[in-house]
Amino acid sequence: MNSVLKLATKIIEELSQPRVKSDGTQHTKARLREGLKEKWKNKVMHGQHIRNVDRQLISEEDTFLRLSKGDLKAETESEIVAAQDQALQTKYYATKILSTETDSKCRLCQQFDETIDHIISACPILAKEQYTKRHDRVCAQLHFNICKETRVQLDKKHWYEHVPKSVETSKGGKVTILRNQQVQTDRSIPNNKPDIIISDNENGTCMLIDVAISEDRNVIKKEAEKILK
Ligand SMILES: [Zn+2]
Repeated sequence: MNSVLKLATKIIEELSQPRVKSDGTQHTKARLREGLKEKWKNKVMHGQHIRNVDRQLISEEDTFLRLSKGDLKAETESEIVAAQDQALQTKYYATKILSTETDSKCRLCQQFDETIDHIISACPILAKEQYTKRHDRVCAQLHFNICKETRVQLDKKHWYEHVPKSVETSKGGKVTILRNQQVQTDRSIPNNKPDIIISDNENGTCMLIDVAISEDRNVIKKEAEKILK
């Protein structure tokens, strides 16, 4: 597993190097980089994430932003890379690839295969509490950044201490930010409580934000669902 992590980190580092066409060394490096990326992509299991990036299911810039920002601890970062590369020892992996187990079912729900995708976004046991907590933390960070951007007075210095209020108003009342508030509509729609609403009181416009945390292959589906709602 370590070699996969090292390879992934090396490729990501190399991919972020600027290309200079006229320089022979740079040209060779670029060719090597492409070669490594191809090898990575062609790995049926470990190459799933990079194939999804190339198929533009997820944004290349956004998905690797955390690596260039360096906000995460090295262990956290490598854990994420390992999960993206399907290199964590799930029961599915232990049963189908390593043949060290005979039962591939999830340790929590005992219903579905314990794959990384299942743990990240599809386990009914984790859905009861953990996925909701994660969703609310993402909303809290987003809410904190929106408040900062729109000059709402904040009690806390860091996003992780921030507890969003139902209604916030910026200095001078130009913007109102609503968290988890019902929207009045002419016809009844099932999900009418967007996570965040930014109301521009000067122009009379609103932006509705709904947060969904899905795994790679469901990003486009989730985005379409949100637009159609
Ligand atoms: Zn499960």
